[in-house]
Amino acid sequence: MICVKFGGTSLADASQFRKVREIIESDPRRKFVVVSAPGKRFGGDIKITDMLEEVWKRALNGGRADKAMKPVTQRYAAIAGELGLEFDAEEEAEKIVSALSACPDRDYCMSRGEYLSGKLMSLYLGRPFVDPARHVFFDREGVLDSPKTLKSLNKALSGLDGAVIPGFYGATPTGGIKTFSRGGSDITGALVAAAVGAELYENWTDVNGLLAADPRVVDRPETVRNLSYRELRILSYMGASVMHADAARPVREAGIPIRILNTNYPQDEGTLIVPVSRLSAGRQAVTGVAGRKGLSVLQVEKQFVSDGAGFMATLLELFKARRLPFEQCLNGIDTISIVIRSDLLKPCKKEILGDIRRVLSPDILNVTDGLSMITVVGENVPESENMTVKLLAAVGAQGITISTINQGAGRLNLILGVHDDDYEKAIKTIYQTIRA
Ligand code: ASP
Repeated sequence: MICVKFGGTSLADASQFRKVREIIESDPRRKFVVVSAPGKRFGGDIKITDMLEEVWKRALNGGRADKAMKPVTQRYAAIAGELGLEFDAEEEAEKIVSALSACPDRDYCMSRGEYLSGKLMSLYLGRPFVDPARHVFFDREGVLDSPKTLKSLNKALSGLDGAVIPGFYGATPTGGIKTFSRGGSDITGALVAAAVGAELYENWTDVNGLLAADPRVVDRPETVRNLSYRELRILSYMGASVMHADAARPVREAGIPIRILNTNYPQDEGTLIVPVSRLSAGRQAVTGVAGRKGLSVLQVEKQFVSDGAGFMATLLELFKARRLPFEQCLNGIDTISIVIRSDLLKPCKKEILGDIRRVLSPDILNVTDGLSMITVVGENVPESENMTVKLLAAVGAQGITISTINQGAGRLNLILGVHDDDYEKAIKTIYQTIRA
């Protein structure tokens, strides 16, 4: 049995709904269907979830939420109308607007895109609607309660021959609605796949799979046909946008492969994501390259600290105390560099620098902004390829200064720090080198 998840562009209008039904009905194993909210129909169009954010803002500021809701209602009414479904979009919209006037809750409002999409798809496929508000649970800290969720979904779904489940949201301990971060329907899809013990999790999008590099930077990068969960995790964490970075976890733990597929081109084999042990033998050595801009490096130096334990632990405790997550921690002799997102550092930069000065009295403490991190990933890189050396030489030959290098032991996961201005050039160079 297969669990399928369709993203926003796959559900953008009635003709996309038709494609989705055809895909689902072409394989009887495709029983459980997770849906996003309708996305963009064309460049410049607005996603339903973004429209709903606007509705919520109006409601919060005492404006005309009903007016902002109109284009949302029209989108659903048009889909229902063209598909000949008995669906009262006006009535649904009124319920949402009136709930918002009693309590303008952002997550509730944002979740209604998936809710209504699920309602429509359930009618269209003739499969029961299962509301994740009753089966996907977050704890008091707002963190997904995976064991409780999997148990509840399993109980609700295992007796059914199929169902439609909206993605993106669940319930708080007090019965409110909470959404995942943007793009989170991918996580719901993975949870459903794990809960029902699917043989495969199909994630249907508008591309033929994961690309080996960002197509906005590299001209027509190739599609990666086969990669490990770990490679996917690293690439999506670093910015490859094919799937939510947290979505692999539930299926990975259950050993369920993921296939990324294109709703507009279903005959393409897409990208298959599997455990390392099941990677195909003839695969490319280096899987891909991804990166992120907008980072800062905080450098702390103090003589002789490498002789005693505790300096690094104390430093990291200071970040923890301020709930400041960082990307990397690099250490040399008597020096530690913390790489952190600039937008997270900025609001509390003075405070954290003050903490470090007070507690650790460093000899040098400075912050450099405008840095990018580029990650090159490959489970299959044999020692003999000397890939790290080749990459450093190629990047260096372009006159690009490498400000940080991070490579753990084991297979290739090389992270290079370069100046934001050199980001595109470095990515292009790396891509050419790994595909040479
Ligand atoms: N509709 C939500 C978003 O636009 C969630 C999703 O599509 O996965 O982020």
